[in-house]
Amino acid sequence: MVIIMRPEATVDNLAEVKKVIEAAGLEAKIMEGAQQKIVGVIGDKTKLDSVAIDALPGVESSVAISKSYKLASREFHPQSTIIDVGGIKIGGEEIVVMAGPCAVESCEQLFDAADIVKGGGAQFLRGGAYKPRTSPYSFQGLEVEGLKILDEARKRTGLKIITEVTTVEGIAPVAEYADILQIGARNMQNFGLLKEVGKCGKPVMLKRGLAATIDEWLNAAEYIMNAGNSDVILCERGIRTYETYTRNTLDLSAVAAVKHLSHLPIIVDPSHGTGRWRMIKPMAFAAVAAGADGLMMEVHPNPAKALSDGSQSLTAEHYFDLMNGVRKLSKFMRDEFLNPIVA
Ligand code: PEP
Ligand code: MN
Repeated sequence: MVIIMRPEATVDNLAEVKKVIEAAGLEAKIMEGAQQKIVGVIGDKTKLDSVAIDALPGVESSVAISKSYKLASREFHPQSTIIDVGGIKIGGEEIVVMAGPCAVESCEQLFDAADIVKGGGAQFLRGGAYKPRTSPYSFQGLEVEGLKILDEARKRTGLKIITEVTTVEGIAPVAEYADILQIGARNMQNFGLLKEVGKCGKPVMLKRGLAATIDEWLNAAEYIMNAGNSDVILCERGIRTYETYTRNTLDLSAVAAVKHLSHLPIIVDPSHGTGRWRMIKPMAFAAVAAGADGLMMEVHPNPAKALSDGSQSLTAEHYFDLMNGVRKLSKFMRDEFLNPIVA
C-alpha cells in the first residue's frame, strides 16, 4: 500500500501516519519527492483493515499495490529514481556507458582497455574478476588480483568500476574495490546472494536472468531493496529463445515495460544480448531510442586474443565510432523528446 500525503501535510502528519502503521506491526517508508510526499507500507496490509488511514490528518488517499514486488514498483515510487555513483547520475538525462573487457586478464590488457574506454567517453570501466563460466575448464578470472588491477585502472583513469560478484563470500572484497556490484544473469535468482548484496552499502546492477520474466526480475530487485539497498540498476542482457543466430534475444521491449512498471534505471547490454560485435552498434542505438538509461558493452584491446567473449567485444575503433553515434542520438532524444519515457 502507498499513502499519498496532501501537499500541505506537515512533518507531524507524516510522523503520525508512520506511528499508526508501525503500531499495526507494519513497516513504513517515507519518500519525499519534489512534488509529493508518500508513505510506503510494507507487510500484510490486512492488518490495517480496522484503521481509517484516509481519515488521518494530512492524508490525501491510499492506494493498494497490486504487484508482488512493492519497493521496485512505480506505484510505490512514481518518480524515476536517479542513482548517484560518486557524481555520475544513472537514470538522469545523460546516457551512462559501462565498457571494458569481459574479464580482467592482466595489468597490460586492462590498462589498455581502460585507456580506450576513457578515450571514448564512458564513465564506467567494466571487467570481471570472478567469471561465471559455462565450462569449469574455461578461464575463471583473476579474483582478488583482478580487483586490484581494476582499482589501479580507476586510479590511472578516474573511471568508476563495475564488476561482478558471484558468491556471498565475494561480496566484501568486491564491495571494497567496486563502485557498483554486478549480479550476473546466472545469479539473478540466487536469493541468498541478493539478500546479502542488499546489505553491502554499494549500488547493485542486477542483470536479467537467462530465462527470467520481467516479473521475476523485478521481484529479484525487490529482494535487494527489501534488504535495505534502494540503489538498484536493472540490466537487460538478452534472454534465451529458440533463435540460435544470436547468443540471446535482446528484449528491448523490456526497457519500455520496466519504465512503466518500475522507477529503477535500466541499462542495456547488447554484447551479451547478441553475442556478435557487429550487432552491438545498431542494438545500442535502438536501446537509447527505446529510453534506456545507459549501455554496457564489451571492449577489448585485441578481441581476437580475448580469454572470454572476444566475438562480442568491440575494438577501439568500433567503440569510438559507436560512442560518437550514441552521443548524437542521446542529444537528439533529449532535445526532441523532453520526457521520452512516461510510465
Ligand atoms: C558479464 O557481464 O560479463 C556477464 C557474465 O554477463 P551475464 O551475466 O549477462 O551473462
Ligand atoms: Mn562477457
